[in-house]
Amino acid sequence: MGKILAIANQKGGVGKTTTSVNLSACLAHIGKKVLLIDADPQGNATSGVGVNKGDVHQCIYDMLIDDVNIQEVIHHTKMENLDIVPATISLAGAEIELVSTISREVRMKHAIQDAKDIYDYIIIDCPPSLGLLTINSLTAADAVIIPVQCEYYALEGLSQLLSTIRLVQKHLNESLMIDGVLLTMFDARTNLGIQVIEEVKKYFQDKVYGTIIPRNVRLSEAPSHGEPIIMYDARSRGAEVYLELAKEVVHNG
Ligand code: ADP
Ligand code: MG
Repeated sequence: MGKILAIANQKGGVGKTTTSVNLSACLAHIGKKVLLIDADPQGNATSGVGVNKGDVHQCIYDMLIDDVNIQEVIHHTKMENLDIVPATISLAGAEIELVSTISREVRMKHAIQDAKDIYDYIIIDCPPSLGLLTINSLTAADAVIIPVQCEYYALEGLSQLLSTIRLVQKHLNESLMIDGVLLTMFDARTNLGIQVIEEVKKYFQDKVYGTIIPRNVRLSEAPSHGEPIIMYDARSRGAEVYLELAKEVVHNG
């Protein structure tokens, strides 16, 4: 049975999509069968693995709202072992349409049931909000990965995310765990980055991944080429650290 990991933080620009794409690709690279689910209407994970949104006829929207079988929305990527359920802008309507839908919080969980046996890991890239798409993702997940950007106010907003996680645990998914907090965009040249690491470690203790993701320009270039970092520049620091994270995630079980 595959492990389902939701990458969540309601703040935008903290590295959710970069982590979703590159963790997925690095897990695939070390031989795991991986399904990436793009749950953000912006569809950045979709284009990040080289799937052209113009070629997508059915996406996660059709799976969540119209009960289209997941097999029909899965696209292969150019990387071996890596498939994706893409998102297009049509997903933007889902947040509102879900409100009046039966079992609105558990639609993702039910939809991906059939894929659990086929993949070793299912990684869900959440949108930058705590709305129903994120709630669906947390309800479907075994564990959540929380990317935190190494900047001022890094912890701001996290209490809201944590209380959402607790609510999901209480009412929808009691076995949901926090797999880890991932520090991203670390800049070793500033004292600030080091202070943030200390602060986050003080708060989350052993829940913080040993792997810290530095700022790496190759990571920000890769999406415009539609390639995960391990394809775009396998020798970059960005590829090294996401490979290290993949091994840590596997080690966590
Ligand atoms: P989110 O999905 O949380 O909104 P993204 O993963 O899209 O965040 O990252 C926001 C921006 O920062 C993107 O332009 C991305 O390319 C860039 N970025 C993310 N992580 C890094 C990194 N480690 N080094 C350099 N740029 C990064
Ligand atoms: Mg994103």
